[in-house]
Amino acid sequence: MLKPQQIVANLEKVRQQIHSSCQQCGRDPATVSLLAVSKTHPVAAVEAAYQAGQTAFGENYLQEAIAKIDALQDLPLTWHFIGRIQSNKTRAIAAHFDWVHTLSSLKHARRLHEQRPPQLPPLNICVQVNISHEDSKAGVPETEVASLAAQIAAFSNLRLRGLMTIPAVPDDEHRLQGEFTRMRTLLDELNQQGLQLDTLSMGMSADLHTAIAAGSTVVRIGTAIFGDRERKLENP
Ligand SMILES: *Cc1c(COP(=O)(O)O)cnc(C)c1O
Repeated sequence: MLKPQQIVANLEKVRQQIHSSCQQCGRDPATVSLLAVSKTHPVAAVEAAYQAGQTAFGENYLQEAIAKIDALQDLPLTWHFIGRIQSNKTRAIAAHFDWVHTLSSLKHARRLHEQRPPQLPPLNICVQVNISHEDSKAGVPETEVASLAAQIAAFSNLRLRGLMTIPAVPDDEHRLQGEFTRMRTLLDELNQQGLQLDTLSMGMSADLHTAIAAGSTVVRIGTAIFGDRERKLENP
């Protein structure tokens, strides 16, 4: 793990990047929030970030996440599930998380709705969109977003907040801009159809600026805050 003061310094740097991107494209920095992706990093790393004012954390691996959530339950943190959803994990996701960014099936939506503990507020949901049309990528095709969104919006224990994407490898700036812009258009179309969505979860370290310029409201940053992940991941 990096030293706590290094995590604090990294966090400050990322915040400055967000701020300067917002300024360059005329956006209010308060409209872009930072999700600190803490997967593979220990409880102490999350605590260091919290001491520097970070309260939203993203996790991909359920068992690891639950251990951290339990250890830090006295802190006012929000936990965002950003990993691949498996049907046998939905009950634990519904019980422990505040947000899910990676929903891409009606079946999982129904399970999360049915399994959300009644004493908790509705689970915040983003539909993951496969905007790059890559076979390997999770997410629904653009053409299916509207119907899935409408169905999710009807589940009372879920609160549909918006859309999420992981774009093509960001080596082609033009393609990246196109993908992020289509995400923004999709969100606008859903809102025109009567949904009330406020979240576009897109942008990681390498494509932060392009995502913000296109309208991202949540950027998901791990390595630039917490350093390299030591463990090799079976399902990154
Ligand atoms: C791991 C992960 C991130 C953060 O990636 P870094 O390269 O560590 O910044 C963002 N979004 C998702 C969906 C991830 O799985």
